[in-house]
Amino acid sequence: MMNTLKAILAGTIYTPLDEIRDGVVLLEGHRIMKVGPRTQVKIPKEAVVIDHSDQIVGPGMIDQHIHGAVGHDLMEATPEALSAVGRFLARHGTTAFLATTITAPPEAITEAARGLGEIIRSWDHLHATGDQAPGAEPLGIHFEGPFLNAIRRGAHTASEIQPPSLAMMRQFLDASAGTTRIVTLAPEREGAMAMIELLRHSNVRVAIGHSNATYMEAERAIDAGATHATHLYNAMRPFSHRDPGIIGAVLTDDRVSAELICDGFHVDPVAVRLMMKSKGTQGVILVTDSLSGAGMPDGEYRVGGMPVRLEKSVLRTMEGTLAGSTLTLDLALRNLMRFSGLSFQECLVCATINPARLLGFEDRKGVMAPGAYADLAVFDKNHSVTQTYVRGRPAL
Ligand SMILES: [Zn+2]
Repeated sequence: MMNTLKAILAGTIYTPLDEIRDGVVLLEGHRIMKVGPRTQVKIPKEAVVIDHSDQIVGPGMIDQHIHGAVGHDLMEATPEALSAVGRFLARHGTTAFLATTITAPPEAITEAARGLGEIIRSWDHLHATGDQAPGAEPLGIHFEGPFLNAIRRGAHTASEIQPPSLAMMRQFLDASAGTTRIVTLAPEREGAMAMIELLRHSNVRVAIGHSNATYMEAERAIDAGATHATHLYNAMRPFSHRDPGIIGAVLTDDRVSAELICDGFHVDPVAVRLMMKSKGTQGVILVTDSLSGAGMPDGEYRVGGMPVRLEKSVLRTMEGTLAGSTLTLDLALRNLMRFSGLSFQECLVCATINPARLLGFEDRKGVMAPGAYADLAVFDKNHSVTQTYVRGRPAL
């Protein structure tokens, strides 16, 4: 079973950097063996042939900023919650994600990190023995807070926001047991530079966000090793031509990539175009920032203990602040095409190889290349997802 050969025929393959017409992907068990045009790749006799020759095949997408979906908050940190969210994501072409925490009491974050770390480290095993349809793989943890700026808290609980504390951060890192990938922090807070240093040495990506940083403060953080910005524009000091702030720094500094919540509510299409022009397709990472209400009917939900209301696919706190989204990455991709006028291939880069590169997984995730995991998303002509493969297994 594990070493079954599969040959997937595709109308067009986006690896995503290369375009291959009339392509074939050979899969051996969990991994990709070969990718190329049908005229050049010999299909072994024993291979099971799967025909997507009227469709587009790309790498599975990676959502590095997601709090929950289908009624589950990932801070529940149970195998059930991660599987339910993972299966929902796989239906939308996402094959990997970072379980993202929200600002909460330090003990709650530590507890969540411990639970998530354990599940993430044993995920291979769960996956290999599960007979349910496979779900997206949890690749690690993204800590969003608690070291934020309360002025730019968005839907994070003000009373639980903390000044940067190395001791507390070490506690989270220890609890996650090597699964921490990204920490979002406000770089202008006192002690933030020392925390950037600690995270860099722990091989964790530092993202600046939920921040009131000036241009200079943001640049200092980038000089110190921050390589990413969390949901650009949202929960940040606003851009002004005399005070460009953190947004001005991120838009003009090629050393940082930036997340975009491309649902049409969080960021105006014009601001999306500005971002694509200044960052280029290689500098933008599509995320959902979705909460437990994603994939659910209108109603009231909770996020990290805070009540939120879902109405016509928009989530808000009781005070009316946007609170995460109900977005899926396939929809974000189509929105980005519509808002920016860029091609499907260019937009796909923002949801696949870009997050993989930020996280250092580009040899095995977010790309179609020999040796990479057989994580694939299949799209029809309208760019709707028709099938997803997680490590070679169909999810739909
Ligand atoms: Zn946020």
